[in-house]
Amino acid sequence: MENILVLTHVDESGALSRASLEAVAAGVELTSALGATLAVGVVAANLSADITAQVAGLNARVLAATSPELAEPRFASDAAACEALCRAAAATIVFAPGSSRFTRVLPAVAHRLGGVTDTHITTLTNGAQVEATRWFYRQRVEAVITRTARPWFLLLDAGTRTPYEGSGATPVVEAVVFTMPALRTKVLGIKAPKQDEQTIRPDAKLLFVAGAGWTKKQADGQVHATDAEALILGFLRNADASLGSSKSLVDQSGENQSVLNFMTHLNQIGQTGATPRHAKGLSTCCHGEEPHVVGWRFVNERRAINLDANCGWARGKADVVYIADAFAVMARVNALLAEKK
Ligand SMILES: Cc1cc2nc3c(=O)[nH]c(=O)nc-3n(C[C@H](O)[C@H](O)[C@H](O)COP(=O)(O)OP(=O)(O)OC[C@H]3O[C@@H](n4cnc5c(N)ncnc54)[C@H](O)[C@@H]3O)c2cc1C
Repeated sequence: MENILVLTHVDESGALSRASLEAVAAGVELTSALGATLAVGVVAANLSADITAQVAGLNARVLAATSPELAEPRFASDAAACEALCRAAAATIVFAPGSSRFTRVLPAVAHRLGGVTDTHITTLTNGAQVEATRWFYRQRVEAVITRTARPWFLLLDAGTRTPYEGSGATPVVEAVVFTMPALRTKVLGIKAPKQDEQTIRPDAKLLFVAGAGWTKKQADGQVHATDAEALILGFLRNADASLGSSKSLVDQSGENQSVLNFMTHLNQIGQTGATPRHAKGLSTCCHGEEPHVVGWRFVNERRAINLDANCGWARGKADVVYIADAFAVMARVNALLAEKK
């Protein structure tokens, strides 16, 4: 019989991260399908009431490895805590969020336990055995993986399932004692851009894509890059959207053309860019060519604003295309969003 362990960690708010709760949901699903046992392991500085409420109602052992040193991600402390949780649960299968914190630690933990790891898992199905799915080669090839080696660590991509919602009885938590190794790394603090400067937001409901049209000459014969920056940043702020770009726009900085200063190659969506997962997408001033649109594979509801009724979006690549000036449309949308706030 399989012993499934779901490893979870907290986010900056001190509560379990959304991706951790998605992993818990995967654990619940597979446990009943496989007739396995389920345990949830929590890595945290301390076990708050918020955390226990998040895992309330689970028909599972809840194990916690706590220490003030676990307030911050650090390889040595996280690896020791995760190893202890795996041993305490006698885990044969481990689900964990594919966060930066766990991605750098769990392959090493698997090695210590003589196990194996697979990353970027999107779906988990259970036939006679557990089957895990992941994409290779920039989302072109989908592989289904099965393994006999145990323990098997599966790092799950975020945004691929509905997070577990705790309700009912709060669990009795078993404290797992572990020896903290010598710590050479001291976390002095975090330097990160403010949330509204951070334009790539994987958890956002909406992907807003800006294309090269924003920096092209407009009807008056002039370029309006400054207006474009204000409109785009205003919209991102009001709608909490994530910012994507076409390749043409991010490549312009190297060509001495007008650029949007907050845009980098990390924002690029498409064949040679990213393939993010968002419920909705709005493309603006972007032609919708195939090498760009393949990056929209996991965006379910698509809309586009383009002056050109013959653009790629109008040829079956978007659900709705507004043939309009994106400067005018986004100014109006921003005004409406500001009124709503
Ligand atoms: C091997 C290869 C890989 C590639 N990989 C990628 C990739 O990963 N991602 C990617 O994006 N591209 C990629 N490309 C490039 C891609 O084919 C296109 O060249 C690129 O996506 C075009 O960018 P764009 O639509 O922003 O610019 P343009 O083609 O210049 O389109 C600008 C659009 O803005 C519209 N517009 C202008 N002003 C306004 C306005 N006021 N209101 C509304 N609309 C307006 C215009 O009508 C036009 O349709 C790749 C190409 C190749 C060959």
